[in-house]
Amino acid sequence: MEHRKEVVITEVCPRDGFQVLPMMVPTEEKIEIINRILACGFKQVEVTSFVHPKAVPQMSDADEVLQKITRPEGVVLRALVPNLRGLERAILARVDKAKLMLSATDSHSLNNANARTLEAMQGFDQIAKRAERTAIKLGGSISVAFGCPYEGIVPIGRHIEICKRYEQLGITDISLADTTGMANPESIKRISRSLREYFPSFHFSLHLHNTRGMAFANAVSGLNEGIVDFDSSLAGLGGCPYAPNASGNIATEDLVHGFEEMGIKTNLDLDKIIEIAKVLQSRYPNQSDSFLLKAGKSSDLHMAPTGQKKLGE
Ligand code: ZN
Repeated sequence: MEHRKEVVITEVCPRDGFQVLPMMVPTEEKIEIINRILACGFKQVEVTSFVHPKAVPQMSDADEVLQKITRPEGVVLRALVPNLRGLERAILARVDKAKLMLSATDSHSLNNANARTLEAMQGFDQIAKRAERTAIKLGGSISVAFGCPYEGIVPIGRHIEICKRYEQLGITDISLADTTGMANPESIKRISRSLREYFPSFHFSLHLHNTRGMAFANAVSGLNEGIVDFDSSLAGLGGCPYAPNASGNIATEDLVHGFEEMGIKTNLDLDKIIEIAKVLQSRYPNQSDSFLLKAGKSSDLHMAPTGQKKLGE
């Protein structure tokens, strides 16, 4: 299949990156970073999460962050919302889009939401009804869609069942998340293709963690299946609760660079992105993971050596 020529990348570092840091990122610093992110050309940024402050203390300043950032025209500010209370806060904070959190498997769902997957979805009824009367848009998500650390491979029937429930709620914008980096290009192809065939009116996006270095290959596989929407995190900031020292989302600079090198437009300013990624890397060196920050862009040419140099000399 021929590649699409243009993609949309959503920056999720302020949520997915910051939420797993062992230290709290000061609110002023979050605001500064988000404002710089918004100047790179992103059309959608996941700025925070309206979870209970006790569950995720790092996101306890969600309301203040939303209030103080500079909001450019036409940019969609997205936030994660776990329940009705979270939605109410998101509405008050004038969030454009609320993304619902849901795990593909019961064991992961019990661990994260204290309820089995379909039980957790029952709570979405109230959320969908409340959102209907406001300007806020709803998106769905399926975490551990390409593999669960407790249950392994997720059968496609499960994704279909979840998507049918989302459809009943009027939610057709679905993020497929490889939360713990268990996907490979073949599983991305299989699941994306089946779901796009089964739900042709849906809009699917990919949220890929680079835990095992597969995320860029997985993104290209998704692109080949017609998916044009991807999440990523500056400097690869983030982590995985099941694998210490494992990386978070694919680094935004790696994803943008990779696509641009392939001739696929991202409409983002890569140099500005690299500048912010360097700042984050210097502040959080143990939580960043980025090829581009190590090796530079492919187009950065170097002086050819003048003499012959043998390795090992
Ligand atoms: Zn994630």
